[in-house]
Amino acid sequence: MANPSTSVLAPGQVDQLSALVSGASFAGLATAYWMTKLGYRVTVIELASDLRRGGTPVDIEGETIEILSRMGMMEAVRAKALPPRDFEFKDEADATLGGLEAASRPDDLSARRYEIHRDDLLDILFGAVDGSVETLFGRSLNQLEEGPAGVTVTFSDGSKGDYTLVFGCDGNRSNTRQLVFGDADSSSYFMGGYFYLRVVPETGLLPANRTQVFSVPGLTAMLNGYDDRTDIALAFRSDRQIDYDYRDRAQQRRLIRGHFDGIGWKVPAMLAHVDTDGDFYFDQASQIRMKSWSKGRVALVGDAGYCVSPVAGMGGSMALIGAARLADALRRHPDDHAAAFREYEDRLRPFVEEVQEKAATDGMSFLFPADELELAERNRKLLEGIIDL
Ligand SMILES: Cc1cc2nc3c(=O)[nH]c(=O)nc-3n(C[C@H](O)[C@H](O)[C@H](O)COP(=O)(O)OP(=O)(O)OC[C@H]3O[C@@H](n4cnc5c(N)ncnc54)[C@H](O)[C@@H]3O)c2cc1C
Repeated sequence: MANPSTSVLAPGQVDQLSALVSGASFAGLATAYWMTKLGYRVTVIELASDLRRGGTPVDIEGETIEILSRMGMMEAVRAKALPPRDFEFKDEADATLGGLEAASRPDDLSARRYEIHRDDLLDILFGAVDGSVETLFGRSLNQLEEGPAGVTVTFSDGSKGDYTLVFGCDGNRSNTRQLVFGDADSSSYFMGGYFYLRVVPETGLLPANRTQVFSVPGLTAMLNGYDDRTDIALAFRSDRQIDYDYRDRAQQRRLIRGHFDGIGWKVPAMLAHVDTDGDFYFDQASQIRMKSWSKGRVALVGDAGYCVSPVAGMGGSMALIGAARLADALRRHPDDHAAAFREYEDRLRPFVEEVQEKAATDGMSFLFPADELELAERNRKLLEGIIDL
């Protein structure tokens, strides 16, 4: 059984505390990193058989730059940062209606914003913890039982373990959240839309280092162009949640086709990629809004506790900020995990709620206008250069 106390020990002390982290993505790997710094023996479990790769690039800005610097990773991030990418809103004739400022140049040390491929940031984080934490792939949590001194968990393979603290870093559909909080306290907020995303080798549909967005009421098509690949993103608005089988990929392709058939601009060429085999990401636009991010010795970090949605454009940053703030709180309250979890939440929640609110309102109507009115307003702002995302 793990040590009953929650004192934070200096690394190398024999009487070690232990932490279990569920999920090996940004929140999980960053939490693992900080917990080892606090002297914990850390185990990370990940449902997938390897790191889950893919997805669009991650924005690194503001507090995230400071956090990655504290983690000693900013140099590696800069080395992998993508060239500045122009953001253009297009009309059907491919004329540019307006744009957004590109991220900073990777070699600019005073830069306020970088972009990095999701996989590159995952590799940097994993490289920093590999060897100092135990990582178990293909495993998840089946049960958690909290005692006075720690949490006894049962893994999906039937084995058991005892940990001082447990962290649910297992994403939007977190099973730690489900096991610990149940349905009553877990709240998924539907934002009124669905997304399709596929990363394919460079298509020639747009120049490198460019993002192009085309919208008609209720439908948005977006292309991200890089040197070696193109992101194909298609989103449709819906007032209600659609009943679909998340394992039925053909049904999801049909849903996209059903909404985008007959739409102009570069959409027919994008749909050709929807029809071909290959992995893609399809999900509803949703946020996680919980009454509390912790219960007893279990705390949630990143999307598991407070998913801000892809619309916010800062899910990765929020996970890194959450992990660092949690570690700071545990450092300030080494003998009292309850006080640390309270402080973590009290200090971070106002920022999370602000980001969520902005994504659910301005973000949705700007990036995915639902109707003629929202589209006209969006285009007016673009023409006048009033863009505040
Ligand atoms: C493959 C993939 C592609 C993505 N693409 C995009 C994108 O294009 N745009 C965007 O805005 N966001 C994307 N996201 C979400 C984005 O990564 C998160 O919003 C953000 O990074 C927050 O990170 P997180 O660690 O909290 O959650 P996530 O990055 O979602 O990571 C959660 C991790 O937990 C693992 N996991 C899930 N269930 C269990 C379980 N039962 N037991 C153990 N582990 C579990 C998952 O496999 C994953 O590795 C993607 C996520 C994934 C996993």
